[in-house]
Amino acid sequence: MSGRARRWAVVVAAGRGERFGGSTPKQYARLLGRPVLSWSLAALLASPAIDGIVVALAPGDRRWKRLAESRDPRVRTCAGGDRREASVSNALVALQAQARDGDWVIVHDAARPCLRRQDLDALIAATRNDAVGGLLAVPVADTLKADDGHGRSLRTADRSGLWRALTPQMFRYGLLRRALAMCLERERGVTDEASAIEALGLRPRLVPGRADNIKLTTPADIGLAEAILRAGRKR
Ligand code: C5P
Repeated sequence: MSGRARRWAVVVAAGRGERFGGSTPKQYARLLGRPVLSWSLAALLASPAIDGIVVALAPGDRRWKRLAESRDPRVRTCAGGDRREASVSNALVALQAQARDGDWVIVHDAARPCLRRQDLDALIAATRNDAVGGLLAVPVADTLKADDGHGRSLRTADRSGLWRALTPQMFRYGLLRRALAMCLERERGVTDEASAIEALGLRPRLVPGRADNIKLTTPADIGLAEAILRAGRKR
C-alpha cells in the first residue's frame, strides 16, 4: 500500500489512580483551573503531525463529555481495560478500520499534563526513520538504593546506563499490536509500550526528554505540575 505513514495518538485515561486517592480520578483533577486530561491532550492537539487521537476512558466515565476536547473532531474515545496495556490495546482495536500496520502510534499517559510540544516534535523527528520506534526518557541523575525490605539501604545500584521512561512512546501500529497481544496473552504485565516491544527482542530508541514531563502520582504532584505549567507559559 502506498501513501505516507499516518500518525495516531492514544491517550490512556482509564486508570483509577489509587495512589492519588480522593473521589476525582487524577486525570480530572484541576491544574490552574483546567482538568489534567485537557492539559495532557494540549500538545498532541497542537501538533499538525497527528492525524487523530483516541482517548481510552474508564467504563462509566461521565466527566469526559464536559471537556471541550470531547467535541474536537480529531478526538474519539474507546473503553479502557483493567490494566494500562489493555487500555492501549483497546485503543488500537478502535483504530483498526483506519490504521495500517506501517502507521505510527504515539501513546501518552493522561496523567502527564506537562508534555511540551518541543519534546513531542523531538520524539517524532528522532523516530521517523527508525525501524523499531522509541520513547522519551531521562537519564537517571540520583544515586539509586536497593532496600532490605525493612526500610534500610542494603546497597547502591549502578545508575550508569539507566533511564526513566516517560511518555509519549511511539511505535508502528502493527508491531505495537503484536507486542501488546503477546503480553496480554501471556499475562506478562508491562508498565509501558517499550517493555512490550523489548519482549519481542527489539530495542526502542531512547530520545532524551525533559525531566519535568512528570506523571501525577500523589496529590502533592498537583502543586509541582502547576509550577511547571506556569513556568512553561512564561517562556
Ligand atoms: O496508574 P498509572 O499512573 O501508572 O497510569 C498511567 C496512565 O495509564 C494513566 O494516564 C492512567 O489513566 C492510564 N491507565 C489506563 N488504564 C488502566 C490503568 C491505567 O488507561 N487500566
